[in-house]
Amino acid sequence: MRRINLKKANVARSDTIRYINRQIVLNYVREKEPISRAEISHETALQRSTVSLIVEELKNQGLVYEIEGESTGGRPPTLLRLRAAGCIAIGVDLGTAVTTVATGDLVGRVLRRETFATDPDMEVTFRRIVDNVQSFIASEPSIEGVGISLPGLVDPETGTALFVPHFKWRDWSIAEDLAKVTGVPVRVDNDANAAALAELWLGRPEIRDVRDFILVLVEEGLGTGIIFDGQVYHGMVGGAGEFGHMTIGKGAPVACAAGSDECWEAFASERAALARYAEKTNGSATKDISFRELIDLAFEGDEAAKESLIETASYIGLGISNLTKGLSPEAVILGGEISRAWPVIADELHSAIARNSICRGLPAGVTFASTLGEDTRLMGALSLILAGKFASVVPA
Ligand SMILES: [Zn+2]
Repeated sequence: MRRINLKKANVARSDTIRYINRQIVLNYVREKEPISRAEISHETALQRSTVSLIVEELKNQGLVYEIEGESTGGRPPTLLRLRAAGCIAIGVDLGTAVTTVATGDLVGRVLRRETFATDPDMEVTFRRIVDNVQSFIASEPSIEGVGISLPGLVDPETGTALFVPHFKWRDWSIAEDLAKVTGVPVRVDNDANAAALAELWLGRPEIRDVRDFILVLVEEGLGTGIIFDGQVYHGMVGGAGEFGHMTIGKGAPVACAAGSDECWEAFASERAALARYAEKTNGSATKDISFRELIDLAFEGDEAAKESLIETASYIGLGISNLTKGLSPEAVILGGEISRAWPVIADELHSAIARNSICRGLPAGVTFASTLGEDTRLMGALSLILAGKFASVVPA
């Protein structure tokens, strides 16, 4: 029987808290620079001495530097600025339609990006990724690693894409293959897991303060990334988070990636919303529209578009209420293009969660739209490298 070494567990825990506090301070500087130590302490509720210690560490590592602020009478305040350390990571967001390869700095600012249509032929897509990564590395020698996010089942330990349903790709050792050609370390994870990691490391303060949350990534399919105690929960061979295939009803408007019309993703994905719109417009819509266009139509006042999104939101909420019953996260974050439709769907989403949570007897945690906007998955890919970087520069 395996026993838990409590002493060790406590050490790990206090290290984790140090990383988190450090990350909070770094992100405050990123978002509010120039900012003083006192302001950081005031806004984060971290003790002044803790903030000072962390700032010293960040200064020593060359991540922040001091400037003199405007005097308001007395001694001018010392303010902190972020030192943009230049490009240190490449993120590859391999999507079902489009793949983006981009460079990012330490705090997740995207510096350069290239985009191309994802080819169903794995070799063709891989070749394009290699070309882009190599040309970025040639001009940016400080690149420390490549993070890849992709829409499928990934074993992050071995860096293998076990199954990408949209393209029926199987057992692709993408991390090893790319590292071999480019000579830099490569990390890969499922898109929802990577996006959850991005929310944890690069999201806004209201989310970074939350230690247990679930990211629901609504796309062509639907995936979830689970963060427990500040870590991505992967489960066996990266298989956790497949809530998109939990059964929530019968007769969904579309089939899930595996062909069932009973799964959450069959009711709550982008494809489900588009199918509802097609049905409501009864073929009168002159062409097939994209999910982006559906959201635009809703904002322009198209009633059928609005209703399609709102109905879809009620199923997203139903699924979220089920997750909440089992996992009781502090927060649920909705990511993907749909987060742009937040003003249209928020009311229905919240009331669906409340309606379906009655038996539980506890109010659900908060539900937010992703704070990372349209780049959620790309930020996820970058985070696979950045999160490790932040952890590794903390002295033991
Ligand atoms: Zn399914």
